[in-house]
Amino acid sequence: MKKDSGADRETSKTWRQATQLIRGGTRRTGFDETSEALFLTSGYAYDAAEDAAARFAGDDDGFTYSRLSNPTVAMFEERMALIEGAEAARATASGMAAMTAALMSQLEAGDHVVAAKALFGSCRWLVDSLLPKFGVKTTLVHGPDLDAWRAAITPETKVFFFETPANPTLDIVDIAGLAEIAKPQGIKLVVDNVFATPILQKPLRLGADIVAYSATKHIDGQGRVLGGCVLGSEAFVMETLLPFLRNTGPTLSPFNAWVLLKGLETLDLRVRQMAENAQKIAQYLEQKGLKVLYPSLESHPQRALNAAQMQTGGTIMSLYVGSGREAAFNLLNALEIIDISNNIGDSRSLCTHPASTTHSGLEEGARLELGITEDMLRLSVGLEDPADLMDDLSQALSVL
Ligand SMILES: *Cc1c(COP(=O)(O)O)cnc(C)c1O
Repeated sequence: MKKDSGADRETSKTWRQATQLIRGGTRRTGFDETSEALFLTSGYAYDAAEDAAARFAGDDDGFTYSRLSNPTVAMFEERMALIEGAEAARATASGMAAMTAALMSQLEAGDHVVAAKALFGSCRWLVDSLLPKFGVKTTLVHGPDLDAWRAAITPETKVFFFETPANPTLDIVDIAGLAEIAKPQGIKLVVDNVFATPILQKPLRLGADIVAYSATKHIDGQGRVLGGCVLGSEAFVMETLLPFLRNTGPTLSPFNAWVLLKGLETLDLRVRQMAENAQKIAQYLEQKGLKVLYPSLESHPQRALNAAQMQTGGTIMSLYVGSGREAAFNLLNALEIIDISNNIGDSRSLCTHPASTTHSGLEEGARLELGITEDMLRLSVGLEDPADLMDDLSQALSVL
């Protein structure tokens, strides 16, 4: 037991989060390595034909093929489940693989999904284009408006899908409030928790059924690999999600799982510092007279709900530079430290123009309805000294 240093699920469950982030799910090999072993293998050999048969029959829980499971990936899944407080987790090759699997695995033709309008661009595509193609009806609502969710329910409604804070409007959706509406109707709450991170917000504790991540964002957080994860009850993961993942194969590479395990070790430190930096920068930009969307600012209409759900304002904000696309591009082009990049959750501060990048796939009307105007920029705050970031923003703003 000591040697495995975290392999025992029941022991690990009693650990505090900081310990789980470092040691949760670790399984040491006979070499007693301190860091997690990286198993770059697609297959596994058996001592005898009978052993292969037993493993396939599920009588022996060894590994059979890395599309189905891999020891390094399993360590990542176990650690994610412990941090989230979920019964089970499965990793995927990207965040979009996680979102797609979380939805497609449980839906069939004739079902109905209600989703928030403000979603990550590709998540909107799933709801607007992919699901309807397979006979799943979808309705979009304004995420913060609980009555709109209630009114959208039909006898066929199976899933509520949303992110909070939402991309890039920073709308806050009331997870517990929606759970109260969904539970009695047997509707499952699927939460894209990427912006909040498992450090700042625990949707399952607030009544959500399924949580999905892009691990590409804060969990790696250093711009290296793509990855994703879906978490939920043992029954959902084993009976609904797993058959979909095993047979369609959006599998996380063991190398990426290893990088993500390293990312988890510092996730709490990075996310809290990034959120602290973001708070300073949001206040600074607001003082400079810009309209800023950031959930812990006094000016955010859902500040109290956000405080209850997510503790801090998070690491991402949106700002309006005040006129059209040209001003927004001028500001981006004048930045010297902050990179122009559509990624988020990185230790480097990154800024993007949603209307021409992440949300360019939406029609103009749909964009404007969300408040994604030509003068909006989204800023993901990193780990640089916030004073340098403020200097950079100040010199770029002076160009306008
Ligand atoms: C990035 C992101 C995704 C998709 O993740 P990938 O790893 O890029 O596939 C989904 N939802 C949100 C909110 C994201 O920021």
